[in-house]
Order: sequence, then C-alpha cells, then structure tokens
Amino acid sequence: MTTTTHETAAPAAELMLGDDAVAFAALHAGIHNAYAYPGTPSTEIFARVIRETKDGGEVVAHWCANEKSAYEGAIGASLAGRRALVTMKHVGLNVAMDPFVNSALLGLGGGLVVAVADDPGMHSSQNEQDSRCLAEFARVPCLEPATPQEAYDMTREAFALSERCQVPVVLRLVTRLCHERARVRVRPAEPPKPLHKAGPRQDWVLLPANARRLFDGLLAEQPELRAASERSPYNRRTGGAGRRGVLTTGIGRRYLGEVLPEMREPPPHLHIATYPLPEALVRAFAADLDEVLVLEDGYPFVERSLRGLLPEACRVLGRESGALPASGELNVVNVRAALGLPALPLHEAAGLQLPARPPRLCDGCVHRDSYAAMLQVMQDTGIGAVTGDIGCYTLGALPPYQAIDSCVCMGASIGMAKGASDAGLRPAIAVIGDSTFLHSGIPPLVDAIAHDTDMTVLILDNETTAMTGGQPTELPDSRLLPVVLGLGADPAHVHVFQAHPRKVPELAALIRKEVAHPGLSLIVVRRECVQTASARRKHEG
Ligand code: SF4
Repeated sequence: MTTTTHETAAPAAELMLGDDAVAFAALHAGIHNAYAYPGTPSTEIFARVIRETKDGGEVVAHWCANEKSAYEGAIGASLAGRRALVTMKHVGLNVAMDPFVNSALLGLGGGLVVAVADDPGMHSSQNEQDSRCLAEFARVPCLEPATPQEAYDMTREAFALSERCQVPVVLRLVTRLCHERARVRVRPAEPPKPLHKAGPRQDWVLLPANARRLFDGLLAEQPELRAASERSPYNRRTGGAGRRGVLTTGIGRRYLGEVLPEMREPPPHLHIATYPLPEALVRAFAADLDEVLVLEDGYPFVERSLRGLLPEACRVLGRESGALPASGELNVVNVRAALGLPALPLHEAAGLQLPARPPRLCDGCVHRDSYAAMLQVMQDTGIGAVTGDIGCYTLGALPPYQAIDSCVCMGASIGMAKGASDAGLRPAIAVIGDSTFLHSGIPPLVDAIAHDTDMTVLILDNETTAMTGGQPTELPDSRLLPVVLGLGADPAHVHVFQAHPRKVPELAALIRKEVAHPGLSLIVVRRECVQTASARRKHEG
C-alpha cells in the first residue's frame, strides 16, 4: 500500500516520546524531505520518521554522512518548494553551521525546521552548549517546547513560521524532553507542498553583491521575527503576588510547577518559549518587580539578555549570578534552593553498597581486539600519541585499556595525529570508527596523504553506527577501501584486517610494522558489532 505524508498513523492522544512528537508533527506538517545524522538525544526523532515512512509514500527520509550534508539536503528541498525536517544533536549543529547560518540569508521556499537536541548535564555528549545561542548568532527564530505536546504543536508552528518569514526555524529540545513519554494530541495532517522552485536566482546565489543585499534583508526581517515572538501564545504570564518574579524557559516551567504547591504564594511568573526574546513582554512583566529568578536549562542565555534590558534596580538571578549551578541540568534540588525552599530530606539506604558500573565495551566487541593489539605494540614502541574519536571505541580511554590520549570532536583523531606527528610526537596513531570516518575523517586524511605524514590510522569498522543504536553507515564497508585508495593513500601501506580474538598477535604485528613505516599507513580493522549482529540475526529469524 502506498501512503502519503498526511496518512501517517499516529492516533489522537497517543503516548509518545518527545522525539516522536517532533517526528509526527513534521510528517503531519507535510514534509517531503527529512535528513539526519544520529546523535543522542535526537536519534529517536529520525528513527520514528523512518519507521513511519518505510512502507512507501512521498517522504524521502535519509540518514546522512554528517549534519552538514543533512542540512544542505534540507536547503535543497526548500529550494524545490518542499517542507524539510533536519535533525541532529547540539554539537552536530556546529558541523552544519556553515549552511545553517548562510541559509538564513536565502529567500527560503518550503519551510525548513532544524530540530536540535541539547544535552545539559552531558549525559552522552562532550559539551553542553546551548543551541539558542547559535540560533541568535544566525539571527533566526528558535522555539523551545516544555512538554511533548508543545514539541508537537511548536514543530507544526515552526514550519508555518519558516515559510512566513522565509528563514529556517530552530526547534530547541533537551534530553529530558526528548526522552520523556506523555500523551500527545495530534491534529489533522496538511497535504505536502507542491513542487515549486523558489526564486529568484539572485536570492540563492551568495555572491558578495547578493549576500550584502540579502543580509540587509535578514536584518530588516528582525522586527517581524521579534513581533512574532511577542505575539506567540506559547509565552505565558501567570498571576502571583509579590515583587520577586520567576521567568522560566523550556522545561524550567515544569520544575517550577513541581514546587509551586509548597510556596505560600505563587510568585509572578512569565514563561518564555520563543526567540528572539520578546523584550516588551519581559519588560512589562518585570516592571513592578525587584528581582527576577531565571530558570533555564543550558546556558544563562535569557539571564544575560535581561541584564541591560531591565532597570538596574531589578536584580536578575540565575545560573550566572550563582543562584543556580552554572553547569548541569535543572532539577528539583537546585530549583528548590534557588527559590528558597527547604531541601528535601535524603533517605539513604544504610549499609547498601552498590557496585560501581563504569561504561565498558560489550563482551565480544571487536574494539577489544584492536586495543589489546595496540597495547602490545605500545609496550614495544613506547607511547607517542593515540588520538581517539567519537564512538563506542572512545571507551578505550577507560580501564582496562587506557589506550587513548584524546577525544575532542567528530573526525579530530586524524587531524590531531597529523599535528602531533608534525610536532615530533611519535608514533602517532589515530583511532576512528567507520561512521565517524565518513562523517568527518576524510578531509584530515586528505591532508595526511598529501604530506605523507608519519602516522598510522586505524579505522575500526564495526559495520554500523553502534553508539547511537546501530544506524547504517552511509557507505557499505566494501567501499571504505576504494575511498581511501582513491584519495591517494599508498596501497602498500593500506590493509584490511578481519579481526578475531585469536588474531590479536597478528593484528599487533601488522600495527607494529606500519607504525615503523616513516609515512602514512592505514589499517581497516573489521568485524561486525555484536549488538547489531545479534539484532540482525533476530530480524532475519
Ligand atoms: S555496541 Fe557494538 S561497537 Fe559498541 S561496544 Fe557494544 S559491541 Fe562494541
């Protein structure tokens, strides 16, 4: 049976994840294209889109090599007049930053919504950057839902806003919302937008003469974006007495709601869900207040904006003032303290000793073989630099292997190994997974090949994107070798090694030989991730 976008089957008031709510809303908004690179906590949005569209229909939904190519796909769809959803985790937006910022200048055709999942508290991320800052940097609107229902409603709204103002709209999510389940009431779906090429051409060609004009246009659009934010029904003021107000954003409102019954009088409260900051609304709210406490997850984004916006006599409290911790998530404990409520009694289970459960590589994981071999080599050759990357194999930095010196961002292992080798730190070994290599490892490998840098690259090919749940790697494994050789790597020093625990000494010997080679060498160590292998076998019956 062929389905179309508006026939996806989420019944009204269905229990769903916050991530699911975004996916259903985008499908019900009539998207034609959807692109993503997996990253916790955003992965489930796209997994849901794929699940709902896999049986056919008009929606084109593809995992991509990285967030930049995903975002560029969405711009292309917009050029074709189609609505497009692109999803990623917060650090993924750094990778997509170039097309993201520049797309704000284009006269977008179809609505373009970028759903970005931030990770305050860094549950599975290398930083806790706040995507509201990046939306402001690009001068585009940002919507910040507080519940799965709002995630649904605001995603629908975001497409309309994107088309009305011809700019991309950021939907900012956080981990707790992405992974929360709640009942969500959905609305009738819209038909997809027809194919209609957006124009004129000079609005899409960012030559300096056009770009100057288009940037002026983006600046001229700002009052309308602010006005839309001032009008938004998602920004709500609720009553309350006293001269100490509370301003919440995102799920900060939920924490306030949790402790409100304990407060003698509910404080004056303003909830902000849309950016640019609705300044008039904020000023009116604070007009009779001596103090505003800002409860926001992430950076002190609103708190900073209030300083300079409100009269000096009005104290602004939040993460930057020290009223709340500067890092980590909001929670009931720190929100209670900021509101002056007594701490909750802690109930300790006396004498209960829970064993520590540090993260570890699965039993039978192919990466264990690679690290066991590397340790043998490093015992002989000494340790120069082993630069790591993002993926399950990052766990090689922890006991029992402790074999990795660095893990910075997607693809950094190869560029850093080159830099370390250039600086004289040898042997230099880069460890990178197959998916991460395709995401961001190819350009630094081009540099290393061009200069025949004295370093060894280990591509740990587990035939999947394991860490985010086993999404397919963009190219099949058989294509890795042609890619590497096509870039110009010396075939005499490029190897594919089929790993097995019994072959660790053989792998060690190969690494030892290539580490001794005074130029670039590359070894693809291959065996399927045991988790995806077992899921595949189950699927195949
Ligand atoms: S999920 Fe796969 S790649 Fe990751 S640690 Fe487990 S076996 Fe290894």
